[in-house]
Amino acid sequence: MSESMIEKAAAVKAKVEKLTGVKGMNDLLPPESANVEWLESRVRSLMARYAYRNIRTPIVERTPVFVRGLGEVTDIVEKEMYSFEDKLNGDSLTLRPEATAGVVRAVVEHSMLYDGGKRLYYVGPMFRHERPQRGRYRQFDQIGAEALGFSGPEVDAELILLAVALWKDVGLTDIRLELNSLGQPQERLSHRQALIAHFELHEDLLDEDAKRRLYTNPLRILDTKNPAMQGLVESAPRPLDYLGESSLAHFNSLKLILDANGVDYTVNPRLVRGMDYYNLTVFEFTTDRLGSQGTVCAGGRYDYLVEQLGGKPAPAVGWALGVDRVLELIREQGLAPTVSPLDAYAIVPDVAFLPQVLKVLQVLRTAGVNIQMHTSSVDGMGSMKSQFKKADSSGARYALVFGLDEVAVNQVTVKSLRDGIGQQVTHSLLDIAGWATTLQSTN
Ligand code: ATP
Ligand code: MG
Repeated sequence: MSESMIEKAAAVKAKVEKLTGVKGMNDLLPPESANVEWLESRVRSLMARYAYRNIRTPIVERTPVFVRGLGEVTDIVEKEMYSFEDKLNGDSLTLRPEATAGVVRAVVEHSMLYDGGKRLYYVGPMFRHERPQRGRYRQFDQIGAEALGFSGPEVDAELILLAVALWKDVGLTDIRLELNSLGQPQERLSHRQALIAHFELHEDLLDEDAKRRLYTNPLRILDTKNPAMQGLVESAPRPLDYLGESSLAHFNSLKLILDANGVDYTVNPRLVRGMDYYNLTVFEFTTDRLGSQGTVCAGGRYDYLVEQLGGKPAPAVGWALGVDRVLELIREQGLAPTVSPLDAYAIVPDVAFLPQVLKVLQVLRTAGVNIQMHTSSVDGMGSMKSQFKKADSSGARYALVFGLDEVAVNQVTVKSLRDGIGQQVTHSLLDIAGWATTLQSTN
């Protein structure tokens, strides 16, 4: 290198500082990422069995979708949304903090309910500006199920049974179900008045948050985490006591179906949810294994959201599951399969063989074999010993050795790296797909 080049290189080195990701937005790296792929594949198969179909809405929506959908006086809308101005036209846009409002927006926009109800599910990232901590991130994945256009309690039950089936399918235990009913708008109004009266009587005991919410969203006060207010919340009027006949009937039918299915639950009369759109049934699945962020899945009915977002009135119910929290349980309990996905590692002594080797690997990969190929460096392919070392640490079951003598007569040696370690057989390259078939049958 000339002196000026060295100087330039040094200057670049001094300037380039390492870039890091955004706080609270995490990278999910292999092999850990295999767990989420596994979970998602279990979910997709389960959703199909319950007749839920995938919907993919954009990550960005117009801000009013959330402000109108979730309610102005909610944690999410007040302080957790990533909103920004579209520089082209000045529109306010927001990274979705949850997916229900966007799904309803799409359902209304595409008149999806014109020929009856729809069962939908989604998988994807959500964004909330929260204080990052264990189980609480600024970008996190949710899996959600939404049933739109159905009013009966059997659909609330179906969704709960779907979640219960998922816990069972992936092997999760120690997950509790809590249920409550918030009632219909008229009932909620009477409860709200009683609630305000109750809190007014004890105004000196309210914290700042509660004072601010007293007349805008008193129900949310029930959800306070402030220990000093627990007594006041305990003695507050409960939504369940304000339910009319038909709301009670809905709640009782749901419980009856869950009982008949052997689903354990507790009725928690203080359970409220963070968004305003819920009515009647609300529920949460929680665990003690995750410290204070123990809610893994939550949902309920939102019979008025469709019309609130401009659609023809239609009932709806759904839930959302926190993938990061479920993954932590899966990791902690070692539930995901850990076997290496690699069937074979290709050992290639000479770069001159690469064109032919890649052709053979292409045939094998087309036939469904997972193969990692050894790659060259400036010094060539490296010693056989170092290639075998790589093959061993790759976790592959077999080494495919494209040795000089073998390739000369159109053959490859297949050497076992695990079961029956060291055993080897030669295969004709002309019928290599035949080997793939025997491999698949031993998988
Ligand atoms: P929390 O009371 O824990 O704040 P929430 O009421 O805001 O939860 P929902 O909006 O109902 O939660 O979201 C459903 C699920 O998504 C939660 O039960 C949780 O598992 C997960 N979740 C919510 N916020 C986060 C986050 N910031 N990071 C990771 N997971 C989250
Ligand atoms: Mg929250």
